[in-house]
Amino acid sequence: MKSPASLRADFPLLNTQFEHAPLVYLDSGATSQKPSCVIEAISRYYSEQNANVHRGIHTLSELATTAYEATRNQLAKYLSVSSSEIVWTKGATEAINLIAYGLRDTIDSSDTIVISALEHHANIVPWQQLCQKTGAKLIVLPVNELGILEIDNAYQIIEQAQPTVLALSHASNALGNIQPIESLIQFSKQFNTITIIDGAQGFLHLQPNLKELDCDFYVLSAHKALGPTGLGALYGKYEALCALPVYQTGGEMIDSVSFEHTTFAAPPAKFEAGTPNISAVIAFKSALEYLESLNHTQIRAYELELFNYLVKSLRAIDGIKIYGDLINNIGTVSFNYKNEHPYDIAHLLDQNGIAVRSGHHCTQPLMAHLNVSGTVRVSLAFYNNHQDIDLFISALKTAISLLD
Ligand code: PMP
Repeated sequence: MKSPASLRADFPLLNTQFEHAPLVYLDSGATSQKPSCVIEAISRYYSEQNANVHRGIHTLSELATTAYEATRNQLAKYLSVSSSEIVWTKGATEAINLIAYGLRDTIDSSDTIVISALEHHANIVPWQQLCQKTGAKLIVLPVNELGILEIDNAYQIIEQAQPTVLALSHASNALGNIQPIESLIQFSKQFNTITIIDGAQGFLHLQPNLKELDCDFYVLSAHKALGPTGLGALYGKYEALCALPVYQTGGEMIDSVSFEHTTFAAPPAKFEAGTPNISAVIAFKSALEYLESLNHTQIRAYELELFNYLVKSLRAIDGIKIYGDLINNIGTVSFNYKNEHPYDIAHLLDQNGIAVRSGHHCTQPLMAHLNVSGTVRVSLAFYNNHQDIDLFISALKTAISLLD
């Protein structure tokens, strides 16, 4: 098994220069880098297997279909669920929209939907739209002044609201906080709440076992977990997927069609209308195999050590304010320097080859609560190293000296 430090060599872009400086990639929360095996799998698909899936009986189509379904099996195994419970989508955003859209006819003004103040817009706006359409009530679990969920308050609110839907992120993209989803899912069961977990950030770092987690739905984006862009997955308990109405309609999601009437296929085909992102699905298998080959206990310990080193280095700089939960964290640090605009800091860092994200991170309500327009966000992955952090801190000190 490879040591965490040696894994970096598998990621070609991390071994390149960017505008004459070594690239320091600290924006994995936005999208992860891709290992060579994933890049090669995309190329291999187009040069050796390119055909549509589930359509032809010719050999090439059968080859592509087998490879496409093999990824579904691989992801199901990774999540400890069944293949028929995995639906391919464009990403986490589409997966959440698919669920929210499907609930339009079952939710009404007597229902309540609970989310947390830490959610990404992708896990706020679809629920807000659903509430506006149906008259249901949206309730937000509060966070404290650093953005940490007020857990006792959360239990009380859920008990009082007895929500129809509880939709929470596994981990916050803006602050990295790992949410106590296990206990909140279990607690909500007594109210027959539909539990939905946005795993866009959690999937890569936390290897969820969905059988144990026992949520009704879990969504993820492949591009944030070493895979290609334009692909995500929706896990739903089979009976929950059966109960959910179709999202988009068209080819391949039907059982039979006449001009008078259409019957639909069973899940997951029911939710996969049209030609899917075949190359991305097939290449995602390589990403999953890569993830499976890692020693996750070792990787997590390594990520945490890097994270603690980053936090300590930032704390040593006067005028830095760090937000979020620095104990239960996937390896993402959000900070500001005095009253400087996060964009200015990120721009100066970029001039030294350091890629970080600045802004509201698609969490405007959270930023408003923290009383900031945005933050600078450093999001780590296992392919980062101590040198990345040293180069970042040195470039940050230079940026600060220019701004002060
Ligand atoms: N939820 C969270 C927590 C995220 O971080 C993101 C992406 N930043 C999304 C949802 C949406 O993912 P995508 O844009 O890949 O659909």
